[in-house]
Amino acid sequence: MHLHAENLTYTYTRHTTAISDISFEACPGEIIGLVGPNGSGKSTLIKCLLGILKPQQGTVYLNSQNLLKMLPVKLAHLLAYVPQNTERLPAITVFETVLTGRKPHMHWFVAEQDREICARVIIEMNLQELAERQLDELSGGERQRVLVARALAQQPQVILFDEPTASLDIRYQLELWELIQKNATDKKLISIVAVHDLNLAARYCHRLLFLKNGRLYQSGTPQETLTTQALRDIYDVNATISNLNGMPHVLPDTVI
Ligand code: ADP
Repeated sequence: MHLHAENLTYTYTRHTTAISDISFEACPGEIIGLVGPNGSGKSTLIKCLLGILKPQQGTVYLNSQNLLKMLPVKLAHLLAYVPQNTERLPAITVFETVLTGRKPHMHWFVAEQDREICARVIIEMNLQELAERQLDELSGGERQRVLVARALAQQPQVILFDEPTASLDIRYQLELWELIQKNATDKKLISIVAVHDLNLAARYCHRLLFLKNGRLYQSGTPQETLTTQALRDIYDVNATISNLNGMPHVLPDTVI
């Protein structure tokens, strides 16, 4: 499965063009980091790819299928979404939450296969101990892992993450990125991750798309894109970029 977004433009109101003329491609197994300042259009781009927002211009293809013309239930077979941890969540159990990931595949009843897929994902993500707990009784990190499990139970081709590690401690951040990497390698999932931590992005993403004022400023490998000049232009920040085990490492210095 090959994802191809072309010339995406979305305007909320007459005055706010949130994303403008954004094009990119993603191959199976690729992890793409969406980076850029607050308000640069990352969430809007994710919502356009998910079909939550209908772009006024542009197309999104997954192989030969036009995602923008697809019914939501069909789209949910291909794309899954891991929202920010701040989303209000219902007071149901972890198992039930993961089961909702099977909804696009289910009829009115839950088939044995759906239960089995959920059980497998729960074990894979080491959530067994939490399976019967209520979602609203979990810590932020635990809840975030459940939201990832729900997306995996959906068995999509593409997963979109909106700042998935924002509220996680460093251990859970690493755990989540390792999981994204494992699914990219083992299942050839395309992952598109809005992320603020440039050092984690450099370590785990194959490619970074830098947005600025709703436009694609640059895209390329972390080595190609993480430069002092780019950080100056995009974030108005002076930073030192060093090389750490072959990967760029960003040390923010001063605000310009
Ligand atoms: P990011 O995710 O990079 O922080 P967003 O996609 O949320 O950026 O926002 C991009 C731009 O669109 C910003 O200027 C923001 O103010 C605007 N915007 C976002 N949501 C809305 C909305 N619901 N109505 C009007 N403008 C919006």
